[in-house]
Amino acid sequence: MLKGRTAVITGSTSGIGAGIARALAAQGADIVLNGFGEAAAIETFRAALAAEFGVRVLYHGADLARADHCAALVREAETALGRLDILVNNAGIQHVARVEDFPPERWDAVLAVNLSSVFHTIRAALPGMRARGWGRLINVASVHGLVASAEKAAYVAAKHGVVGLTKVVALENAESPVTCNAICPGWVLTPLVEAQIATRAADEGIPLAQAERELLLEKQPSGRFTTVEQLGGLAAFLCSEAAANITGAALPADGGWLAR
Ligand code: NAD
Repeated sequence: MLKGRTAVITGSTSGIGAGIARALAAQGADIVLNGFGEAAAIETFRAALAAEFGVRVLYHGADLARADHCAALVREAETALGRLDILVNNAGIQHVARVEDFPPERWDAVLAVNLSSVFHTIRAALPGMRARGWGRLINVASVHGLVASAEKAAYVAAKHGVVGLTKVVALENAESPVTCNAICPGWVLTPLVEAQIATRAADEGIPLAQAERELLLEKQPSGRFTTVEQLGGLAAFLCSEAAANITGAALPADGGWLAR
């Protein structure tokens, strides 16, 4: 379905981004991976994706907290693969604390990586997509782009910002074949959430399995984590012809979280 297309997926060395990179590679897209991690592990993942699906897979180490790195990621992906058709803004970080205890430098970091990078990469990618007459901009927001939870001020503010930015970009490009949508997962069992489960277990003096169950059931009625494979499938759908007139949407994959 995506043979001949190219995709940049930010934060794809782990979790949801890795799942989306795999799903788009499986559809035949050439891939640029990005994110932090151990060089050997990243190279193993890069080489495995290329071998399994017979696509080109490159890695770019841009630090998305920096505007110049965001622009360079897009520019260098276009140069290396000849074009950029799909941009998945997925990189994200979390910090959990009440507002009065929230370190200002963590606020700045969460806003830079989770929100400002989305603006910077889209700004760099749009001209090429419009000139070539096709583009898919997919922003991994969160249920926290639509509702709040306590102790996540920066994350909730950033994700609400991502949903708003998604709508603006969709409107500005509505008459072109470039769509812009947000994916809003509920709980997904990745390192970002494993850290929150470990904190909860330590704070409450309970086993990890109990902390995981409590965290899930508190918000997510299905009682099941959304998987990275499901989110990869949703991203691939947004790249399909069936989704060509879906733009400006914030699509939940949340086991019913937002239905309460
Ligand atoms: P993760 O921690 O497994 O992966 C985050 C990725 O972002 C990693 O590849 C990391 O290296 C990269 N990253 C972090 N800072 C970066 C920076 N400055 N520059 C470049 N890359 C950077 O987390 P995840 O759970 O897979 O989260 C991915 C996205 O999904 C995030 O935007 C997160 O907010 C969102 N999300 C996650 C969940 C969940 O339950 N896990 C739910 C809703 C939304």
